[in-house]
Amino acid sequence: MIRCLVSGILIVAWVLIGDSQGEETRVDAKEIKIAPAPAWAASARVLSATCDDIGRLADTKDRFGATVVLLYAVGQTSNGWCPEASYERIGEFITRAHETELKVVCYFDTTLAEEKFFQGAHCEWAQQDQSGKPIHYQPKHIRQQRYAFCFNSPWSKYVASAASRYAQLGADGVFLDNPDYYTFGGKKSCFCANCQRCFKEETGGHIFAVTDDTRLKWLGKCLGEHISRVHGAMGKATPDRPLVVTANICGAGPIRNMRVLGPYLNVLFREVGGGAELRKTLEADLRACSGKPLWVIMTTPWGDPPETARSLAAQLEDVLGSGACPMVWATLPSWNPERPGFGETSIYSESLLGDVVKKFYLPGSRTQK
Ligand SMILES: [Zn+2]
Repeated sequence: MIRCLVSGILIVAWVLIGDSQGEETRVDAKEIKIAPAPAWAASARVLSATCDDIGRLADTKDRFGATVVLLYAVGQTSNGWCPEASYERIGEFITRAHETELKVVCYFDTTLAEEKFFQGAHCEWAQQDQSGKPIHYQPKHIRQQRYAFCFNSPWSKYVASAASRYAQLGADGVFLDNPDYYTFGGKKSCFCANCQRCFKEETGGHIFAVTDDTRLKWLGKCLGEHISRVHGAMGKATPDRPLVVTANICGAGPIRNMRVLGPYLNVLFREVGGGAELRKTLEADLRACSGKPLWVIMTTPWGDPPETARSLAAQLEDVLGSGACPMVWATLPSWNPERPGFGETSIYSESLLGDVVKKFYLPGSRTQK
């Protein structure tokens, strides 16, 4: 039995493990206490933004009814998609948003970084498969390789330090994207030297020798502890301000899901998914998340504006009807690798999309059910 204390936030995890043959192996987080979300998170109406939208903040709030901005702008590590911006610009954006009475949650990819970051001194931070190969891939909409980094490596402190910087700049929270292990074509896991060493220290076992189930439970706990480390670093930077700590946990995999990672977050976050069963899916999430707010990003397929607007409205109806909080792309993402980040179509330029957001976001503009 091992107790782990993570700075700022108490995590008590019991790790029971038998011999290295995996005969009696349990790696469970039993009790996780985290600071509750600020009250405003429970009624959030979220719109995405980049630093280029600094001149649109009054519209964001007054014309469209948003209460929170999810800022896609990273100060030091992009994932080959999220727009980069200096910390100075991010700070200016946050200050201006606060003057407009908007909250700002900053985006950070908690796992993936672009190729140029890997080529520096950070190769040893990468997640590795069983043969020791670093995990990388190149999605169609990204120009360069993405590398996945391990939460048991110094990468975790690196992410915590970036999030702490956001908090110092006034951010009201952080959104951690893509929290997962990204082994492709093999065992979903990380077998890097850091994981081998930490697993041995914590359990006495060998990470190669235990069952998949035992290893995945342990890795899920490690990822959760990484999230807590990030939260702890932000809380230390701004001890008097309650913060949102959320992560995209929409997946159905063994680690990236509400059950494993939800306990480490004070706001839950998922992509819509669910298809025709969306409202039921969200209601089930809400029942399972112990009263924590649930934010849901609209990832409607982006076609022509009328079709996109119809699909967005249907999703918003379900999200708000379930009691969750919606997050809408103010500008639709670009799928062109030559132009990563966001495209041209936005609620500011396309009235069909803008009207849908107004209808569901502005107080009193929609009949409450
Ligand atoms: Zn590792």
